[in-house]
Amino acid sequence: MKFSIEAKEEQARCGRLETAHGEVETPAFMPVGTQATVKGLTPDQLRETGAQMVLANTYHLMLRPGVEVIEKAGGLQKFSGWGGPMLTDSGGFQIFSLARGPQNTRGNSENSGAVGLVKVDDEGVTFSSHIDGKRLRLSPAEAVDVQNRLGADIIMALDECTAYPVSIEEARTATERTIKWAKMCLEAQQDRAGHSNLFGIVQGSAFSALRQRCARALVAMDFAGYAVGGLSVGESQEQMVEMLEVVCPELPQAKPRYLMGVGTPRDIVLAVGAGVDMFDCVLPTRNGRNGVAFTSKGPIRLRNLCHRTDSGPLDRECSCYTCLNFSRSYLRHLAMAGEMLSGILLSIHNLSFYQALMEQIRQSIREGKFRQFTGKILSDD
Ligand SMILES: [Zn+2]
Repeated sequence: MKFSIEAKEEQARCGRLETAHGEVETPAFMPVGTQATVKGLTPDQLRETGAQMVLANTYHLMLRPGVEVIEKAGGLQKFSGWGGPMLTDSGGFQIFSLARGPQNTRGNSENSGAVGLVKVDDEGVTFSSHIDGKRLRLSPAEAVDVQNRLGADIIMALDECTAYPVSIEEARTATERTIKWAKMCLEAQQDRAGHSNLFGIVQGSAFSALRQRCARALVAMDFAGYAVGGLSVGESQEQMVEMLEVVCPELPQAKPRYLMGVGTPRDIVLAVGAGVDMFDCVLPTRNGRNGVAFTSKGPIRLRNLCHRTDSGPLDRECSCYTCLNFSRSYLRHLAMAGEMLSGILLSIHNLSFYQALMEQIRQSIREGKFRQFTGKILSDD
């Protein structure tokens, strides 16, 4: 994988990732395809929104249909019909989401995680399948092995995700384990000759010293890229930005940076300003299925009565399939009637909205107008 930075404005970067399955312009937003499908959209419709790379969840796919099925099909890209670049999560987040309880807001899985008792030790994690309750174990080396067999272009190290808030002692234990596991993942990856690129994940909750310690330890190991995990889990937006401002300066300029499970358009703009290159989040699709559309004037709830006879599009500034062909009145009717098409059309619009935002961000960095663009977005809220 080759990563090149083509323009910079302060900490914000605009660049290009070259993977075995195609190029990705950064800053990039990856739609979430938990079950090797972005809910409701065909790969053609997904491409039409401007998506360049898609995320899939290892935890779900290893349980069903099973890694051997996807491996036999020639990898996720072929199996899903998407064909383009893909990234897989290590599975750790879904396994640990149990311990985090319902307050978990990090959105990178469209489905629930493991059930029952989750046991962690230095060699890995033991958990129960949410499908049949079977006890399973995932070690760092296995997480790397499974992701390579799924065939993703970017794969993630197994990390220990803590709840928020958490005591500094617990956060320290999880951070040290994450560092140890990262080393084990890297060793497992070094024996391979595939097209995958392993990213390390910086943990440390909202503790600056732990974030810094984790970032430095991972950078010394030399990963293909670095992710920041454990944010957007209930902390404030200010804390999220503060942690990014601690972590990003520790990371090498020449490697891509990925903020996991984030976020709202505002979160994304702030994180790009701190130096992040990649994002994923379920918000555009999950909100779409719940009748909520992102627009250039802020989010709107289609079930509200004010849209009942509105013949205008969702967003006059959007040129997606939904906005070119359907009125708010019709989209409201579909949402009220619980029609399948409602979630599809709103997901198409919301994903197009996010991709248009990313293109505006990239363009503004290229033109040296990112700060100006940020000011406009943040004052619109
Ligand atoms: Zn639209």
